[in-house]
Amino acid sequence: MSLAHESAGVPPWQQAMAAAYRRPEELLAELGLDPGNIHTAMPDFPLRVPHSYVRRMRCGDPQDPLLLQVLPQADEHHRVAGFTDDPVGDLASARRPGLLRKYTGRALIITTGACAVHCRYCFRRAFPYHENLSDSTFTGVLDELRRDTSIREVILSGGDPLSLSDRRLEALLQALDTIPHVRRIRLHTRTPVVLPERVDAPLLRVLAQLRKPLVTVLHCNHANEIDAAVADAVAGLRARSAAVLNQSVLLRGINDSPDALVDLSEALFAAGVLPYYLHQLDPVAGAAHFAVDDDRARACVTGAAARLPGYLVPRLVREVAGADAKLPLQT
Ligand SMILES: *Cc1c(COP(=O)(O)O)cnc(C)c1O
Ligand code: SF4
Repeated sequence: MSLAHESAGVPPWQQAMAAAYRRPEELLAELGLDPGNIHTAMPDFPLRVPHSYVRRMRCGDPQDPLLLQVLPQADEHHRVAGFTDDPVGDLASARRPGLLRKYTGRALIITTGACAVHCRYCFRRAFPYHENLSDSTFTGVLDELRRDTSIREVILSGGDPLSLSDRRLEALLQALDTIPHVRRIRLHTRTPVVLPERVDAPLLRVLAQLRKPLVTVLHCNHANEIDAAVADAVAGLRARSAAVLNQSVLLRGINDSPDALVDLSEALFAAGVLPYYLHQLDPVAGAAHFAVDDDRARACVTGAAARLPGYLVPRLVREVAGADAKLPLQT
């Protein structure tokens, strides 16, 4: 890192985020892959992937499970019945701009539309962030959270809340920390997995100030995503969290086998993370090629459960608009 950048006060993680790959041809060249296989992304959801995540991909393997999560494919452009822009009823559950209310006692804040990575299967890939977020959004959201004493738990989501600057994140967390009826704060983030340098000393200082218990829920889909830098980031988060959990999405060709799920759970545990949910894909337009049918999904989890201690088996669930919880798929 150059001294010029340091003196400009741009933290290394923000530089890394800004330097992410955005052009498929550059990414493919880096991996020694044929640039003839480039497909254009939707203009509002372009390729975005940090260098450190790309370093965990296998060179020369077009089926690499990390690459498949981020590389736009021709299939994205196919319209498939049942796959829509608002697959889990987010719009209907908006209590006010930036605040979703679906489940008893819990409220979810859309903190930002930005992410360090663009996951092709993202259920909020078409979320109208610009209509939901403005400079005054947090003020209104906080007023509502203070007013509604039924809220026990506040979830910071997005986008990815760790895309916020430390200053904005600190202001939001500090405000939540002073609301008497809020018992726990949850941080839902994929950033420590895709850009572990985000979990730096200043961020950990922000989290250490909280008096309420913090529950950190990561989003990791494959054992190859966890390297030494991710394990370090998790160690930092563990020291400041009451629990560090993980949710995954079941993705065709990426983690839809008992072997892949066993390896993922073992790698998570080795890093100090417990599996929480394994989500059936939300039917978002452009992601149908990642779908795994329910029978196969159950078989993957049953196969993994035969080889893992119970506490390392994630709960296989589907989100259904209007339901009062994430619904388990019976296995
Ligand atoms: C998934 C979700 C939650 C959290 O549900 P848990 O089952 O507690 O993990 C809360 N609010 C919204 C809007 C959600 O989508
Ligand atoms: S990090 Fe999460 S919110 Fe962001 S693109 Fe990936 S799945 Fe979507």
